[in-house]
Amino acid sequence: IVPVITIDGPSGAGKGTVSQILSEKLGWNLLDSGSLYRIVAYAILKNHINLDDQVCIEQLIKSIDITYNVTESSTEVLLDDKNITNYLRDEKIGETASVIAANEIVRGYLIQKQKDFAKPPGLIADGRDMGTVIFPNALLKIFLDASPEERARRRTKQLQDKGLDVNIDEILANIIDRDQRDRNRSISPLVPADNAIVIDSTNLSINDVVSYILESYAL
Ligand code: C5P
Repeated sequence: IVPVITIDGPSGAGKGTVSQILSEKLGWNLLDSGSLYRIVAYAILKNHINLDDQVCIEQLIKSIDITYNVTESSTEVLLDDKNITNYLRDEKIGETASVIAANEIVRGYLIQKQKDFAKPPGLIADGRDMGTVIFPNALLKIFLDASPEERARRRTKQLQDKGLDVNIDEILANIIDRDQRDRNRSISPLVPADNAIVIDSTNLSINDVVSYILESYAL
């Protein structure tokens, strides 16, 4: 069996960066499960489908073709052969992703796609329900959290570094909104798995978190 480390937690807790570093250090595959929800969100917006329209969403989801182009330096996401990587981090896409992530049809469709990432020599799985639903038998489960204010501060800095003009209060409101949706939805809500190690990264650096996870893995 393939060893899996799951990294779950709310938006902006540092899961993405930590997962990326761990996958490089261990030489393991990486699943950024949020990107799958973002791809579906992109396709729904592109096709002007109403977020409540179950029939259209089901039809769409059955027809879309997602492929990954993994190179040493990057992972490109192709939707029906079009490279959409650069659109996926958009706030509007994240917002829509978090709405459609409560849709049972969407979650059901993505289950097998996520499991398929578990290939030798191992997998770092980043998301909300990696330890609770997708990889319940994972070797090590981490729940990475941080205060909403700290997560808003980090997200603001990230966007500012990209040269974007952003308002921290708006970002904080957005984070709180998204947390609520992710924690309170009836299907696969965001909660730590029973046997997860909970790390509060509010006062920790990325390196602290990575070292702590590697130490826990070695135990
Ligand atoms: O992590 P990221 O911000 O890319 O995820 C976008 C949205 O997708 C999240 O706000 C969450 O609602 C949803 N998601 C999910 N389950 C996952 C990963 C992401 O519900 N495993």
